[in-house]
Amino acid sequence: MLQERLVTANNRFTFMPASINNFLDLAVPGVRALQPYSPGKPVAELEREYGIRNAVKLASNENPFGPAPLAIEAAREALQDLARYPEGSGYQLTAALARKHQLDPACITLGNGSNDVLDIIVRIFLTPQHEAVFSQHAFAVYPLAVQAVGATASISAAHDGERGAAYGHDLAAMLDLVGPATRLVFIANPNNPTGTWVDSETLESFINALPDHVMVVVDEAYFEYVEAQGYPDASAWLSRFPNLIVTRTFSKAYGLAGLRIGYALSHADVAGLLNRVRQPFNVNSVAQAAALAALGDEDHLQRCVQRNREGMSRLVAGFDALGLSYIESVGNFVCVDTGRSGADVYEALLQRGIIVRPVANYGMPNHLRVTVGRADENARFLNALEQVLHD
Ligand SMILES: *Cc1c(COP(=O)(O)O)cnc(C)c1O
Repeated sequence: MLQERLVTANNRFTFMPASINNFLDLAVPGVRALQPYSPGKPVAELEREYGIRNAVKLASNENPFGPAPLAIEAAREALQDLARYPEGSGYQLTAALARKHQLDPACITLGNGSNDVLDIIVRIFLTPQHEAVFSQHAFAVYPLAVQAVGATASISAAHDGERGAAYGHDLAAMLDLVGPATRLVFIANPNNPTGTWVDSETLESFINALPDHVMVVVDEAYFEYVEAQGYPDASAWLSRFPNLIVTRTFSKAYGLAGLRIGYALSHADVAGLLNRVRQPFNVNSVAQAAALAALGDEDHLQRCVQRNREGMSRLVAGFDALGLSYIESVGNFVCVDTGRSGADVYEALLQRGIIVRPVANYGMPNHLRVTVGRADENARFLNALEQVLHD
């Protein structure tokens, strides 16, 4: 019975008139020009397409060691209550985050991934009359979100290696682009895909120099991984800069990418605006429970950070041995210059069951971004890379 209905439904879809172009005309201008975000290839898709098994995915900066066991247990327990809506305020998790960051709970906005929070911020502050400033090679979600609302992206050239790390954000150049129409600035610290970072002094004086009509978003998606001296926790400046918004996520070091949960830290008045636009139940109950438990396992987090450090050393030693240059990264990923078309190397690696990330869309056609995996995954990747380059 059910099957029959499905077939009927399918047939109806098959006979729909082709009118896609008309719909495109109906879409708002920002959406018309949009190219969808292209995510890292899922393992299951590669295995299906290439008929292989045991593929290794080092393409989306996920934590290869997974979340804390207690987080999985908490998620499982939360399944008991799936018939209920989640707690819209995320009361317990918000309270735990408030303690962690020593902020009032009213300063915290939960999101369905930090991507959700970034989208909300854009919808609050940007219109087609407004501009957002960010750097060349910055995280791809910024241009997408800005374009979707029809606002203008003002993109500064990245450092060329003279006055700051090559490919890194040039904050002086970004400040030059700030004008009367600017409402938002995005700084990914560290940035994805480059892995470059901005030090405390430089970032603080940049924020200090911004005019009052400009909000600055410091995206700290990889905060937990960074061990560099002088790397700032921008959330410590919130009491001094009411135009500052810091975003964090449980998707990376906390290993909960599949559940979609992140958050913003801001002035309570700004959080009040975010809360107006946020969907009433934007963060599901399983994610809330798992994130809360994950916060409680600092040991697991530190073990993951340590293994990441070891894996990163292994990867860059491998690049050195192959004579390849790379962009020094403080995150759980690194961009390597393959010295040829990154897309070709990407394809050849896929055939060997290794998924990495091409970054031509970031203006880096010869680079590939590789997530630090487990020791066995890193070794398989380096082996495959060597084979591909010597073919
Ligand atoms: C992965 C990532 C995010 C967002 O991830 P969510 O899963 O939506 O929390 C945000 N910023 C940067 C720079 C990232 O790399």
